[in-house]
Amino acid sequence: MPSPETPPTPSNSIEIRPTTYGGRGYFALSPIPANTLIHVSPSPYTLSIIRDFKKECCARCFHCVVGRNLKWRAERGNVAGFWFCGERCKREWEGEEDVAGLLGEAMECLERGFKRQKRAEPPRTPDGKEVGRASTTMDEEMLERVWKDAADAPWPKHGQIPDGEVDQEEARLITYALVRLHNFLSSPGSESSPTWSDFLALQPNALSHFRSQPYLLPSHLHTFHFLRSVLPKSLRGVLTLENFRATTARDPGNSFGIWEQAEGEEGDGESEMLGWAMYPSASYFNHDCDPNTKKVRRGRAMTMVTARDVAEGEELCISYGHLEEDVLERRRRLEDKFFFSQLDKTYRLLLYLIVLVVSLYSVYIYHFNPKMSAASSISAIRIPATNGAATAAVIFAHGLGDSGAGWSFIADHYKREKSLQHIKWIFPNAPLRPITLNGGMRMPAWYDLTSLERVEEAEDSVGMLQSAETIHALVKETIESGIPADRIVIGGFSQGSAMALLSGMIHKEKLAGIAGMSGYLPMASKLVDMRHPHNQETPIFMAHGTADPVVKFQFGKMSMEYLKEKLGMEKIEWREYPGMGHTADLKELADFARWLEKVVPPKN
Ligand SMILES: [Zn+2]
Repeated sequence: MPSPETPPTPSNSIEIRPTTYGGRGYFALSPIPANTLIHVSPSPYTLSIIRDFKKECCARCFHCVVGRNLKWRAERGNVAGFWFCGERCKREWEGEEDVAGLLGEAMECLERGFKRQKRAEPPRTPDGKEVGRASTTMDEEMLERVWKDAADAPWPKHGQIPDGEVDQEEARLITYALVRLHNFLSSPGSESSPTWSDFLALQPNALSHFRSQPYLLPSHLHTFHFLRSVLPKSLRGVLTLENFRATTARDPGNSFGIWEQAEGEEGDGESEMLGWAMYPSASYFNHDCDPNTKKVRRGRAMTMVTARDVAEGEELCISYGHLEEDVLERRRRLEDKFFFSQLDKTYRLLLYLIVLVVSLYSVYIYHFNPKMSAASSISAIRIPATNGAATAAVIFAHGLGDSGAGWSFIADHYKREKSLQHIKWIFPNAPLRPITLNGGMRMPAWYDLTSLERVEEAEDSVGMLQSAETIHALVKETIESGIPADRIVIGGFSQGSAMALLSGMIHKEKLAGIAGMSGYLPMASKLVDMRHPHNQETPIFMAHGTADPVVKFQFGKMSMEYLKEKLGMEKIEWREYPGMGHTADLKELADFARWLEKVVPPKN
């Protein structure tokens, strides 16, 4: 077993300073050669190991071989179960992390609480009756109102568990942080680094987080009440709404995944994500597509090592790869959990039906609401070019049930790519419309889904054309802002991809490009007549995961072939990603970036 080594002292040549693009970052004070250890975060402030790996992952040093259970077990927290790779880790954990035994006790209470939970009605977003995946109307005021109600609610009777299931990993992460805070408050001066104030110094990300994943708000509210009803009474003092919110708001965007490492390897052998941990001081390493620094986990410690020679004054950045993968992986898990275990059976069945329907490539004219028509005011998230002088634009449409905010991370993701800094991003919000197949539930959608029939006549072409108008209106708005049509790209994901292909093909002016991810070509035969000759030569980027369970890979590929053979589109760049599901991964985002560089290169 590898023992949790004491990491060496890092070179003293970096400091935290404000960056030119907002926030703070680490900068080199002097030239630093490649492979220099520049930073060590010996211990996280808080962490959560995924339940499935509890017996395989050492609670102290995170050593883990998936599939091999560990032998040492803590005496405290019998039900919760803390497992260790050896006697040393066990002793260190009992002597340092859980001195007073409160951590074991609290985790034990959580575990007993989890077991007693009852399934409940699916939670609702605070701004409406429907359970959508996105809330475009959520703002600071609404958030404050919701939390105030939670704070005013009476403290539940001990053991009286509210109905519904909590996100167990999140509950552990919060409990761990609160126990640490309690231990510090009950014997001040004993606090070890990182401290609660280091933790609070991290950037909170609550509002944007709840906007893009609104189901998290009811989920967090529920977790708050759950913790109040199950945690030991000694934690009452620290279990305030302020502390709870402070913890949950800092989790997104600041948590590092704890990845399994193959023995003898550092970093590169990572495969399975075992849990999450927050290392406040390591969070100031910003993301860069071409990083000069790499993160290397050494047991419990997170360390940073230069990947190449770094010049004096240069910012030290790590690959967005790992960090964003951490975030995406986590988000995927949360969504899976939310959609496929927290919901009741009927709703789950409906979701499966949607999956089935979309994969059967069938849509149908059914619902037509004139109020939803394009024009007057177009709701969208508009992100100006990073360099402040946009000479190109990308209009990117989200998928069913999502929102513009749900995809605005792409703009963020590309912020540091010099070749894309002249691009202005527009992420339109689809209107809420009843989805027939989903029992008439209203959710953000570009068009309705109604039938299992696999015929083109069944498509909601009215809804589609209406939404195409919305996208055309955004193109017009962009042209009026000074960017010509041939510097505008229309793109989208899933249902948004169908919209991008349709509205691009029929647009009356030549566009810079059309991009469709994980989608398909709608109104295919109608397009033979409807497409506009000006966009015959327009470059198209199409990408699809081979394991897509929602819009089957075959439909994406068939659409591409149809575009080529029947519609004569020649400049199609087709990308397929083995094993990828209904999502966009980092490889795809990188390919998309390279394509954008070609179709809307920076102008001098
Ligand atoms: Zn260990």
